[in-house]
Amino acid sequence: MTAPSASAPRPSQWQEKLGVVLFFLLCALLTRRVGLAMGAQTFWVLGVSGVLGFVTSDLVSGLVHWLFDTWFSRTTPVLGKTFVTPFRVHHEDPLDITRHGFIATNGHNCLVSVPVLGLALLLPSGPEAPLASAALIFVLTLCLGVFGTNQFHKWAHSASTPPGVAWLQARGLILGREHHDVHHTEPYTRHYCITTGWLNRPLAALDFFRRLEHLITALTGQRPREEALHAVSTEQQAPPVPTLATP
Ligand SMILES: [Zn+2]
Ligand SMILES: [Zn+2]
Repeated sequence: MTAPSASAPRPSQWQEKLGVVLFFLLCALLTRRVGLAMGAQTFWVLGVSGVLGFVTSDLVSGLVHWLFDTWFSRTTPVLGKTFVTPFRVHHEDPLDITRHGFIATNGHNCLVSVPVLGLALLLPSGPEAPLASAALIFVLTLCLGVFGTNQFHKWAHSASTPPGVAWLQARGLILGREHHDVHHTEPYTRHYCITTGWLNRPLAALDFFRRLEHLITALTGQRPREEALHAVSTEQQAPPVPTLATP
């Protein structure tokens, strides 16, 4: 969910551009089908499903962010360069994301969402299929939220944003700067959700991520943040660097 950094491999630009075009095309087709299914009786069902889809995108952003902040390392085969490195680089240089253009910021998530949107097109929709229509709008708002994640995250780090964006941030409708600052503050293990951040406080109250880490450690023996822990312990064991005596 973090925009790939300059040091992480990215799909080629034409793949990302194609992903963005296909994403908006599929969203337009799904929106039209949702509109056709919208009626007086289905309005509330579809409305609730839409909100749930958007909230779920915040949860997905938190889980993916936590996963690659906490487990694996930059040298893990397949996952290391593509997924782990961008998250670790973002902690070292949080402003790196603000130097990415629209395609570099959002192309990745569009490519991930396109197959999901394509499958959703296979669902029946209309007043005679209210549950399938509800699933369709759930997928649509989920993918729109996933698409927005990197852009919202980028805006949360940007020195200046368009007035409309600042309005949305001030009202907590998308990830806010001060809210996200908590994640970039020691111990760097809080507020993983980066779409809207709505779920950060409820998940913290449940101690959700620490419980999940304890469960994974109990099942696998792996320790969370092993790469960071290893770096700290190596630093502590390293002999002091000799300083040159000044004349
Ligand atoms: Zn992080
Ligand atoms: Zn950040």
